[in-house]
Amino acid sequence: SIPLSFYGGIGGASRNGILIKGGNYLEALAKTETVVFDKTGTLTTGSFRVNSIKPSGEMTEEQLIMYAALAESSSTHPLAASIRAAYGKEIDRSVVANVTETAGRGVSAEVSGRVVLAGNAKLLADGGVAIPPSAPAGTAIHVAVDKIYAGYLLFSDTAKPSAKKAVNDLKKLGVKHTAMLTGDAEAAAKLTAEELGIDSYRAGLLPQEKVSGLEDIMEKFGGSTAYVGDGINDAPVLSRADVGIAMGSLGSDAAIEAADVVLMDDDPAKVATAVRISKKTFWIVR
Ligand code: ADP
Ligand code: MG
Repeated sequence: SIPLSFYGGIGGASRNGILIKGGNYLEALAKTETVVFDKTGTLTTGSFRVNSIKPSGEMTEEQLIMYAALAESSSTHPLAASIRAAYGKEIDRSVVANVTETAGRGVSAEVSGRVVLAGNAKLLADGGVAIPPSAPAGTAIHVAVDKIYAGYLLFSDTAKPSAKKAVNDLKKLGVKHTAMLTGDAEAAAKLTAEELGIDSYRAGLLPQEKVSGLEDIMEKFGGSTAYVGDGINDAPVLSRADVGIAMGSLGSDAAIEAADVVLMDDDPAKVATAVRISKKTFWIVR
C-alpha cells in the first residue's frame, strides 16, 4: 500500500505538469543518483537548421535538397521536417514510392524512379555507398542517388533554454552522474555534452543500443537511474531504467505508456523539479 502523503507528492508534481504513475516511482526518483538523457528533442529543441548544402559530383545544391526533401516527404523525424523546411517548395508525393525508414539511420525511397538514400553514414554504408573521407563535424545527412554519393546537408540543433539549468539543478540535488545517449553523430554529441556540462556520453547509437548503453551506465555507477527521452524510438530504454521519464507532447503513445513519469511541457528542468518534490515527499514519509 502507498502511504497517504505520497498522494500529496504526486499531486504536487501534477500541479507542475509532471505526471507520476505511482508512489514507487516517487521513491525511486528520490533516490536518483544517475540521470541519463536522450539528446534530440530532449536536451535540444528537436528542430534543426540546415547550415550548409554540400553537393558532390554532378549534383547541384538545388537537386541535392530536392532529392532529400522528396525522400523524407513522409517521415515524422525532426531532421526530415527541417529538410522539407529548407527545401521550401511544395512536394509532389506522387513521384515518391517504396519508402522505408530505419530508426536511427534514415530513409530509402524511390524518387522519380531513382533510388534515394538520405540518412547517416551507417545508412549509406549498409546500402553499399562509400562516403568521401572528409567527414563533416556535426549532424549531417548524407544523400545517395542510385548508389552514387550525392553529397550532404549539415545541420545544427540548439539546446533547449532550460537544458543547462536541468543539469545544474540535478547536481545540486545530489545526482552524482549525468550522461547522454544519442543516435546522432559523435561531433554533434560532443558539442551538446560540453555545452551543458554532462559528465559522459555515447553517440551513434541505434534505439536498441541505447538499452545496452543504459545498462553499462547502471552497472558502472549503480544507484537509482533515470532515463529521460523524447519518446521517439525510446520505449525500450524508458522501460529499462529505474525511472523512465518521457516528454509528453513529443512522445509517441508507446513511449508515454512505457514511461513512469511524463513531463507535460517537455521541459528538461522539470526532471529536477520531480526529483526535488520526490525527495521532500519521501523523506517526510520516512
Ligand atoms: P536521438 O537519439 O538523438 O534522439 P534519433 O535516434 O532520433 O536521435 O536519430 C539518430 C540519427 O539517425 C540522426 O541523427 C540521423 O543521423 C539518423 N536518422 C534518423 N531518422 C532519420 C531520417 N528520417 N532522415 C535522416 N536521418 C535520420
Ligand atoms: Mg530523441
